[in-house]
Amino acid sequence: MATWRAPGRVNLIGEHTDYNDGFTLPFAIAASCTATVRPGGDGLRAGSAQVDGEVAIPLTGLAEAPAVPDWARYVLGAAWLLRDRGVDVPPLEVTVDSDVPSGAGLSSSAAVVCSVVTALDDALGLGLAPDELLALSRAVENDVVGAPTGGMDQLASLRSREGHVLFCDMRDLAAEPVPFDLGGAGLALLVVDSRAPHAHADGEYAARRRGCEAAAAALGVPALRDVVIDDLDAALARLDGVGAEEQRRYTRHIVTEDARVLQTVELLRAGRVREIGPLLTQSHVSMRDDFRITVPEVDTAVEVLLAGGALGARMTGGGFGGCVIGLLEAEAVESAAAQVEEAFAEAGFTPPVAFTVTPGPGAHRVDG
Ligand code: ADP
Ligand code: MG
Repeated sequence: MATWRAPGRVNLIGEHTDYNDGFTLPFAIAASCTATVRPGGDGLRAGSAQVDGEVAIPLTGLAEAPAVPDWARYVLGAAWLLRDRGVDVPPLEVTVDSDVPSGAGLSSSAAVVCSVVTALDDALGLGLAPDELLALSRAVENDVVGAPTGGMDQLASLRSREGHVLFCDMRDLAAEPVPFDLGGAGLALLVVDSRAPHAHADGEYAARRRGCEAAAAALGVPALRDVVIDDLDAALARLDGVGAEEQRRYTRHIVTEDARVLQTVELLRAGRVREIGPLLTQSHVSMRDDFRITVPEVDTAVEVLLAGGALGARMTGGGFGGCVIGLLEAEAVESAAAQVEEAFAEAGFTPPVAFTVTPGPGAHRVDG
């Protein structure tokens, strides 16, 4: 038996850059999923403290059990994939218990998958290397559930380090911790879960992906990451075929966003945490006007936070709802949260949920 805990994450900056081979800067939050793997019984069994009922499937796997609900695919997907690859997976039970809100853009799915993958690796004594843990976690989401995530979520959940953001290069999947000392700078990061319904999020995500790929193809580069910021205007001028207006907006967002991640990393390395605020806000404007993935709730939250003195604010996560982050003076957090609540009430939005986060550790074993 083995029990592992893996966190949800907030992305400080670098949105939709992951599937463009670019840069992201996520960090683990305290909200996390705990997974326990218990060999024994027969077949594969899944349980979740957040879902009623158990799911049991034969050891032979997914093909014999087509009606498995998504939540159980997240929980059992790694065991299936390992079996498919010839690992001698014994009968076992996997149970999860998570306090990461589901579908809020804090990556509850990666918390489930990464806690299960690390617990399985441990319980079965597989000794998987870090890149194998990452590939397996990602394959569960991409291949077993069919969720087209770009890999940042799993990297953040597996490899984050306390007190740091994780500078991820999504081309070679290198991840480097960079100090992020909010408290030392007298600052706090407020997360506002907008609770806006994720309407059409999957279709819109797929459309952005296709648009970015089409723009890269039109520009003759492997991915938009390869357009350097100094050549951006020239590249935009070369996009003039069908769908050019959209491709220009997508390209401008991705290329400037990659540049903002690099600038944020430089500032953090120099200990200049307070100065990252404008980059966060520029990122939001780019997501709102160029990439067009925000909704009125998150735009409102960002506006209210900035009006209330935030050094910077932006939506975080894939968009069409989800969370906003605001970089604030520590003593301004309570009033900022209250102002957002008030503005949401006035606009007739569902009440938001606000909380502060600090960078926590990535996946780790839980004893006992
Ligand atoms: P996000 O990762 O942003 O929270 P996703 O749509 O990627 O949103 O993942 C949410 C899905 O992950 C849920 O619909 C469910 O299938 C699965 N999930 C998340 N938390 C749990 C949990 N505690 N138990 C079982 N499944 C979970
Ligand atoms: Mg997810």
